Amino acid sequence: MNSFEELGLDKNILSAIKELNFENPMPVQEKIIPMMLQENPQDIIALAQTGTGKTAAFGLPIIHKTDTTLRQVQYLIIAPTRELCLQIADDLKDYAAFNKDIKIAAIFGGSSMDRQIQKIKQGAQIISATPGRLNDLINRGEVNLNKVKAVILDEADEMLNMGFKEELEAILETTPKNRNTFLFSATMPNPLLSIANRYMKNPVEVTIGKKNSGAENVEHISYLVHARDKYLALKRIVDSHPNVYGIVFCRTRQETKDVSEKLMQDGYNADALHGDLSQSQREAVLSKFRTRHLRLLVATDVAARGLDVDDLTHIINYDLPDELEIYTHRSGRTGRAGKSGTSIVIANLKEKYKLNTIEKQLGKKFTTLPVPSGREICERQLFHLIDKVEKVEVDTVQVEPFLPKIYEKLEWMDRNDLIQRFVSIEFNRFLEYYKNIPDLYIPSESKFKERERSTRGGKGNYTRYFLNLGVTDDLKPAQLIGMINDFTGMRDIEIGEIEILKNFSFFEADSTFQNEIIEGFKGKKLKKRDINLEIAEKRRGGGGKPKFNSDRKSSGGYKKSGFSREKRDFGDKKDFKRKSSFSRDKKSRD
Ligand code: AMP
Repeated sequence: MNSFEELGLDKNILSAIKELNFENPMPVQEKIIPMMLQENPQDIIALAQTGTGKTAAFGLPIIHKTDTTLRQVQYLIIAPTRELCLQIADDLKDYAAFNKDIKIAAIFGGSSMDRQIQKIKQGAQIISATPGRLNDLINRGEVNLNKVKAVILDEADEMLNMGFKEELEAILETTPKNRNTFLFSATMPNPLLSIANRYMKNPVEVTIGKKNSGAENVEHISYLVHARDKYLALKRIVDSHPNVYGIVFCRTRQETKDVSEKLMQDGYNADALHGDLSQSQREAVLSKFRTRHLRLLVATDVAARGLDVDDLTHIINYDLPDELEIYTHRSGRTGRAGKSGTSIVIANLKEKYKLNTIEKQLGKKFTTLPVPSGREICERQLFHLIDKVEKVEVDTVQVEPFLPKIYEKLEWMDRNDLIQRFVSIEFNRFLEYYKNIPDLYIPSESKFKERERSTRGGKGNYTRYFLNLGVTDDLKPAQLIGMINDFTGMRDIEIGEIEILKNFSFFEADSTFQNEIIEGFKGKKLKKRDINLEIAEKRRGGGGKPKFNSDRKSSGGYKKSGFSREKRDFGDKKDFKRKSSFSRDKKSRD
């Protein structure tokens, strides 16, 4: 391994590196720095994740090569977000700590344009900019890029994901044709390749780590659950990792808000980061997260871009991204700076194929685990507490004066009593919550396939049930379906015919879920009346085609034969209409 001295950097920069306590160059720096230091460097495509030391890889050589006698922009760095842009400018200022004549300007949206223009006019030789604001300044004629020797595109794939293609192209068009382009990106999607083909000359490709791969020391875990159980699964996963410090990724702003609000209501140290926040709100959230006052940041991909936190323990994919390459970015936010990390996916069965695609892209397998049971969670929390007790440092001098009184007060308790009570103080919350909660239903592929087959018009296989509730209990089909949903915890059980009679009823449901239905109804009441559900004999000639399923999404049959019987029996036209309108789009619940 080369030392920084051997890479050819000047002594002022070496002094700055020393101040920063960088002992040895990181692999990306070892490769890139000598290439960029050459008299006439070649263009470079560097495939490197954040956290690999890429800022210094391009930052140190440009500080080295900046001509301080010239008061014009010579190096232009473009990065996707304000945070990253500022971070880069700050890092460069650190590298230039002993090169006082180097001026670095950060140019980004959401902040005074005048002050930024002033900075440029004062003779900045290096600009770290976001594409939107820089493009505005170019269009206003406030920045002259004629003397630019190199453009560095940092997190280039992110910039394209964020829709900055046009701005990037416009900026590149404004810079001299003979400039260098150094492109840093975690992945190389096609649109980026086409920009590289158009604007780069004979680029050398440098890959740090595997192409398009997440960090090596990231473990990938998936939990398969029903879509409606995602939030419960999230809670369990978080509860089973008492030290969690991570980002929960959602696909939409609304979901980000919903999930974070629910987490906060449920007592978690969480907050949301999404596009509807003002700059100051965003900064407040980020600052709480960086200082670990927040343990969970619920964020959209766009909002989390440029967020640079090194020691996240977990990345939780509450939703898988539409573009699977984004998964690489997400998971690459943990397992940084040599630490290990875990990337978790909470997926439903329909998303399983996406997991397979990601596995292929990463060249790594997901470990699929069952969602932790209440017992497991309690055990983990308990041992976390015990661990804390074992590791806590006792300041005997400070605590000594209080001890005699404490001993006196606790004297009547024996050792077991004492341990049980002290453990319960922390533990009761979890015990209380989890003691009566069943394990989350794990969808099995065979049931899923069977259901798929039956909804596709295959031979549905129904069980017919007798229920001791009827018209006198004011039972309506809608209510019955609601009960099946609630008691089984499942929304998509195929329901056949429903017959509501005076004092009792019959209904048919997909036989695959016989156990769930029987177990689900056990011990339940309706308006204080004990519910009794039994398997009934099949109707002669009944139990054939599927009529509708309990999420009524793909049913179509809801208005037809499934209810015609009920309509015939009770002839309530209004009621029938009302019921058919409560068809629920499953997506809106997911
Ligand atoms: P980056 O990929 O540029 O975001 O860098 C990730 C982290 O590594 C930052 O906190 C840098 O300060 C740190 N870093 C960069 N180069 C080195 C080095 N040679 N030795 C130790 N830490 C470094």
